[in-house]
Amino acid sequence: MGEFPRLRDDLTELTGYHSPQVDVPVRLNTNESPYAPPEAFLRDLESGLRGIDFNRYPDRAASELHEATASFLGHPVERVFCANGSNEVLQCLLLAYGGAGRRATVFRPTYLLHEHIARITGTEVVAGGRKADFTVDPDEARRVLAEASPEITFLCSPNNPTGVVDPRETVDAVLAAAPGLVVIDEAYGEFASWSALELVADDRPLVVVRTFSKVWSLAALRLGCAVGPPRVIDDLAAVTLPYHLSAPTQLAGRLALGHVDEMRRRVDTLVAERERVQAALEGMAGVEVWPSGANFLLFRPAAAGAQRPGPGPGAGIGVWKALLDNGVLVRDCSSWDGLDGCLRVSIGTPEENDLFLTALEAATQ
Ligand code: PMP
Repeated sequence: MGEFPRLRDDLTELTGYHSPQVDVPVRLNTNESPYAPPEAFLRDLESGLRGIDFNRYPDRAASELHEATASFLGHPVERVFCANGSNEVLQCLLLAYGGAGRRATVFRPTYLLHEHIARITGTEVVAGGRKADFTVDPDEARRVLAEASPEITFLCSPNNPTGVVDPRETVDAVLAAAPGLVVIDEAYGEFASWSALELVADDRPLVVVRTFSKVWSLAALRLGCAVGPPRVIDDLAAVTLPYHLSAPTQLAGRLALGHVDEMRRRVDTLVAERERVQAALEGMAGVEVWPSGANFLLFRPAAAGAQRPGPGPGAGIGVWKALLDNGVLVRDCSSWDGLDGCLRVSIGTPEENDLFLTALEAATQ
């Protein structure tokens, strides 16, 4: 009998990316929609599932889903690629353009999966920093990109976990300086003031990544997409497994896009709630909060009894635990680069947001 092989040496250091899944009444740690999908969508899906030939493989090209996504996003279908969540889109980009001897650039603190998937695919990661307000500094971008010469440059805007939206000028500067492909992760793009979708063109090495996991209330479905030049879309198709999009996924994604008005109403509600929660946090003594163009807020609470916001010893984690004791789960970001003592709260229903604010008030007094 043979021996079990050892995990690849370059993977042994990698810890998985997870936010604890704790069963609590108020779950505000993973930026999902707090609302179930529309009832009419669920009814259509139920009857649509009956019509699927489950004994047959699904449409390999997922043509109807791609057509519907392209028309919703206002781009020709040749520029659209769908996969099982935007994480799979990111993985496909790295499978196509990363790998041994190739590099990817990120600007920390940012979405950890960009680095994580890069490493899994054997891609070297070269990280730049961000300014104190968490925007990307074009000069720093030019410096890192000249030094690293990466095949792929990731920009996350609105940035997870800071919520900051980079302005158009920064994207233009990164596009001008990047020697390879620029990938803008717009998982929270619907909540922001502008979108790089308008910059996607056939002759520009730019890809914008979107997801159905947030405003579409379909995190459980696992569906995301990329919008980019057709030659990139063809390359992505080359690295996917045959039939990677199941028939129920294709159906549900297509049906969801029939409820655009409801989705836009949800965005408006969540943005209004985000502004309300932000104002409440700004009004709390010792709490620091950053502007956000997403469905979450990054904040730094003061430790109980402290006059000033962190990074006091354990302020973030102490408050995180106190919130949990009161049934409210948020994301602890205090171990991330530059985020000492910081927590991130997803915007929930008005009731959930009130419970969070009351629990935070109690935890920091
Ligand atoms: N990108 C960013 C910035 C995210 O925050 C997330 C979700 N946490 C994703 C991508 C992945 O989303 P999904 O795979 O659910 O589409």
